Amino acid sequence: MKMNLIRAGFPGLCLMVSCLCFSACSSQNGAYADSEDCCVGNDTVYQVAQLHSLIQGYYDGVITVGELRKHGNIGLGTFQGVNGEMIVLDGTVYQAVSDGTVVLPPDSETVPFSNVTFFEEDASIELMNIGSMAELKDSLDAFVSSHGKNLFYTVRITGEFPYVKARSERAQKKPYIPLDEVMARDQIEFAFRNQRGTIVGMYFPGFMDKLNAAGWHFHFITEDRSKGGHVMDVSFDSAVAGIDVADEFRMIMPKDGDYQKMNLEKNVDEAIRVTETGSKD
Ligand SMILES: [Zn+2]
Repeated sequence: MKMNLIRAGFPGLCLMVSCLCFSACSSQNGAYADSEDCCVGNDTVYQVAQLHSLIQGYYDGVITVGELRKHGNIGLGTFQGVNGEMIVLDGTVYQAVSDGTVVLPPDSETVPFSNVTFFEEDASIELMNIGSMAELKDSLDAFVSSHGKNLFYTVRITGEFPYVKARSERAQKKPYIPLDEVMARDQIEFAFRNQRGTIVGMYFPGFMDKLNAAGWHFHFITEDRSKGGHVMDVSFDSAVAGIDVADEFRMIMPKDGDYQKMNLEKNVDEAIRVTETGSKD
């Protein structure tokens, strides 16, 4: 495992919000350039609800896909009823459904949990000889620890991937069951071999563990945007990781009664671990 710094603009977090806002908002769908809601700040990570509400079974949409795209052009998440894994890349929201096939959801589709940001590359590193998910995390953690573990990081890793083990899950109907039980019953795993594509990853600091999962979370999509899912394991010889560092956070919460009744202080660490890794071990 070896990491070479190719170029790094960090720690100069970009403060040119107004000029970058213009380009970031001109998504390929081009609908948001004059929206008042557009562009809170390009170094803002936007979150829909909490991982903790999702883990406990709050799967109703909080905002639409169309609304989500106003808050970022890269990110992760899921859809109403946990109907697959969300990959947001270059302003497009992709939905990897249960068998790993990627479809384009309509803007009216809704989102119970997601994180997005506007990607602006602060650094680029080459990742080499990555043999496992643990090695990928170690490589990226080396960057995080040298630049500040208490910030938000988004990576896009593009390259040729000999092996990606991924998963998605079948959509749920009410009454919803907790997410670890969904994964035990309805998770479907698949392996991608020798695929060009992109891994989108997001890192949350340890202090975010009441709102999200601390550490890294990765989703994969093939270069032709036909297949993808939540990454469980990966290996590759060499790939370039563009890294965006963010120092602002914004979250929207559901107002409805089901959400208000939830105990979001409950410790769900084990359920998160099982959900993220797909392993009861
Ligand atoms: Zn995921």
